[in-house]
Amino acid sequence: MNEITIKEILGLTDPNIIVDDTTKSRTIVKEDGVTKNYWRFILTYKLRCKNCGHYLNKNGFKTVQHLAPAGLWGLNFLIIKKQKYICKYCHHKELAKLKDINPNDHILRNLKIKEALQLSSNITIKQITENFGISTNTVMRQA
Ligand SMILES: [Zn+2]
Repeated sequence: MNEITIKEILGLTDPNIIVDDTTKSRTIVKEDGVTKNYWRFILTYKLRCKNCGHYLNKNGFKTVQHLAPAGLWGLNFLIIKKQKYICKYCHHKELAKLKDINPNDHILRNLKIKEALQLSSNITIKQITENFGISTNTVMRQA
């Protein structure tokens, strides 16, 4: 499976996110009859300091987990190593942002759209939470 296919399946459109090939890019965990796929990515790009305009130095990674749309293989989770940055001139710090997720959110935008579409048909909230492996509260917040 090539990189574009993986990204398409998981609903990732950000060109700066790439499959992490420094480690096993997919781990499968089976729990109570549910298959969970953990996909590993790296998010990095060149970024300028918003204070002084210089290019920021790369300063390690922060690993975060996001929920992606469920697929034929079960539930999908993204484990993303996000680039950390620091400005060597003014010491401003920054974390790489994934375009497919709103700031301070942990769910991909296209997954929310999918949830909303399901809410508009006859499916119950319970079915959605089961399909997506998310809490009722999450569904209600996005509805
Ligand atoms: Zn700066």
